[in-house]
Amino acid sequence: MSLKINIITLGCSKNLVDSEFLAGSLQKAGFKIEFDNEKKTGFYAVIINTCGFIDAAKEEAIDTILSICEQKKQGNVQRIIVCGCLINRYRNELQKEIIEVDAYFGTAQWKEITEYLQKTLAVANLTYQIFEERRFLSTPKHYAYLKISEGCDRHCSFCAIPIIRGKNISRKIEELVQETEVLVKQGVKEIILIAQDTTYYGVDLYGKRALTNLIKELAKIKDLMWIRLQYTYPNQFPMEIIDLMKTEKKLCRYIDMPLQHINSSILRSMKRQITGENTLKLVEKIRILIPEIAFRTTFIVGYCGETKQQFDELKTFVKEMKFDRMGAFKYSPQEGTEAYLLEDSVSEMEKERRLNAITKIQQAISYEKNQAKIGKVFTVLIDREELDYFVGRTEFDSPEVDNEVLMYKSKTSNACLTVGSFILAKIIDALEFDLIAEALPEK
Ligand code: SF4
Repeated sequence: MSLKINIITLGCSKNLVDSEFLAGSLQKAGFKIEFDNEKKTGFYAVIINTCGFIDAAKEEAIDTILSICEQKKQGNVQRIIVCGCLINRYRNELQKEIIEVDAYFGTAQWKEITEYLQKTLAVANLTYQIFEERRFLSTPKHYAYLKISEGCDRHCSFCAIPIIRGKNISRKIEELVQETEVLVKQGVKEIILIAQDTTYYGVDLYGKRALTNLIKELAKIKDLMWIRLQYTYPNQFPMEIIDLMKTEKKLCRYIDMPLQHINSSILRSMKRQITGENTLKLVEKIRILIPEIAFRTTFIVGYCGETKQQFDELKTFVKEMKFDRMGAFKYSPQEGTEAYLLEDSVSEMEKERRLNAITKIQQAISYEKNQAKIGKVFTVLIDREELDYFVGRTEFDSPEVDNEVLMYKSKTSNACLTVGSFILAKIIDALEFDLIAEALPEK
């Protein structure tokens, strides 16, 4: 029997890093690992690492679990393990309702899952290995996420993360540098710093914010080319990060800052600790300091009590600020959160309408911004190769969520392109979310 294990990861990049640590542990114990969210048969075990952040994520997790259970009934999978955020919240209910699952584990229980599989599946031909933390990357080998802390100390009214993941716990700078050095030796050139709130990094460990110190230490690693920052928080945003962006060439001129809303009463109810006015000032200040910075943000539409006027205010803000990238989500009440006690007053249909309206505005902005890039030359990191073209990103784009740069093979005859390499490319055309480019020959 094959000892292949498929790890299905749902949710965000923070969950993906957990899956990679789990994979590292299982691999060390002798199992063969795949990361394939679509493939459900032909495995000794399927592990579903769940997300429980919003209703849509919960539904996706349940649907995935049930579809694997169906495969188990047909004999195509021997064991099912479900772990992650959803289990931290609903373990008892799931254990009672979905009995086909062999075992449930919470977040970060890599050691326990490995031991469980070793013992209960009686992997007779494998020597028992002591658990040791290491990662098995699921991303292309030239970039990796670096989870710098776990949990969150904020109290945003709509968010269940602090209930699921607990309080903020930062990892030591030395430990993160060491992990990055190992990743760089394996071929990683870009590291993406993630946490629930990256700007809070270090407060629990060093008594002060230490993100800048961490980035400075990471930047010393030879052969690490790009450091990218995600999930920053607007209140008390450490401006020294922006100063560092001006001098430290490895730190991408890119900021991901979920703003959630612009109306001050909504922000107050959301417990975001910042007013609309100060939010606006912060975005403007960052853009004055680094005009070329790519600003990514996210908003929630249809939050409890959001009036038409308040939504219009948000629409105007989006129109005027012309963010480089924007994601928007419909509010969905989460048990145990403060907002759960408020009336979920905006109908589902109206939430959908607001989501479409705001998304449409951003699409036009994105198209306009991309059109303005035609004729310009950018450094591009090549992520993958498709049939007719290579796909890459500039420093202004995160993987998975942002623009991609497509370079048709028929137009790249003079350039030597390989996945994981940096090249210069000239933008020759632009769509809403993609740039078409011509690779420039090496000098
Ligand atoms: S900062 Fe707010 S939204 Fe983000 S994880 Fe923490 S509580 Fe949730």
